[in-house]
Amino acid sequence: MRLDIFKSLKTKKNLKLFVGALVAANTIATFVPSVGGIGYEPAHNAYALETTVSSDITLDEIRNMIYSSTKLTDEEKAYLYNEALFKDVLPYINQSERMKFIYRSKFDDIDIKNGILITGLFSANGLYFGNPSHNLYVQGYSNIGDGTEDVVAHEYMHATQDMDVYNFFFEPTAEMLSNEYYGSEADTYLAEIKTIKILMETIGAEPIKQYIYTGDFSMIEERVKPNLDEEEYAEFLECVKEDILKSDHRGLTRHRLRGILETLHYNIYGVHLKDDEVISRILDDDETLVRPYFNEGLGDSYYIVETSKTSKSGDNSDVEYHYLAPISEKEEFFTQSHQLN
Ligand SMILES: [Zn+2]
Repeated sequence: MRLDIFKSLKTKKNLKLFVGALVAANTIATFVPSVGGIGYEPAHNAYALETTVSSDITLDEIRNMIYSSTKLTDEEKAYLYNEALFKDVLPYINQSERMKFIYRSKFDDIDIKNGILITGLFSANGLYFGNPSHNLYVQGYSNIGDGTEDVVAHEYMHATQDMDVYNFFFEPTAEMLSNEYYGSEADTYLAEIKTIKILMETIGAEPIKQYIYTGDFSMIEERVKPNLDEEEYAEFLECVKEDILKSDHRGLTRHRLRGILETLHYNIYGVHLKDDEVISRILDDDETLVRPYFNEGLGDSYYIVETSKTSKSGDNSDVEYHYLAPISEKEEFFTQSHQLN
């Protein structure tokens, strides 16, 4: 038996774009239109809040927004209302008025469309277009169930992200999220996914969730900056700012980041990456490792190692379960060391 969340390594050209969220003004916010253009834009520079009080977004509210849409088919509504996803993400969104506002706008007018809208610029099979409306564009799309779900899921995960300046995070985490919440194959940005996993194994999952859902980088800074020297931290920032969709030196950036993570991990734990059991498995082969980083409903405390050991009786026991420390213990580690300081 195998948890089928890291499957085959098909190559697929799968560029996704995001254009900064620009949403119509309503009673709680005023918007300064973001400058148009293709690429990531800091959504939270796009407006200023006038008032700061609104109720928290509930699962019911999101469900109603999606189910009352006049744009979506019944299949799309069922697909987009992913309760496990919203259950995990809403607590981050409800931390701020800005995010609540953005979410209310996004999920109130979301739609899935065929085509990629802008042709001739990129060879892409999907994109999330956050400006002016919130549309997922998928090449060849007709409806949920037509075989384009992997792309739909990936683009949809961009809708849950608050894209900001540290662009390195968004593609690999969209792929990890669509994998964990939709069981869709993680088959692009594989090397970047490994890098993100190593970072999450080093500083915990929480700072990365906080950043991608809300644009708040402070928790990453808190855990990375004190454990690197000034130059190394500057290099870390430079690397994670890189937009891997546009970069012509993705490999070099990954290589530099890997070197920084080696230093970071050693400075925090006194252990090299290759000597950490989980990280060494990530480095070796992500096919053998299953540890959810985002979907709390998938559990927290295990990974599964596939082996081909044959027992003495001749039975093929092809899977071994190893229960390891949950990734949440990384959070405790940082909370405790913070208290000591
Ligand atoms: Zn993408």
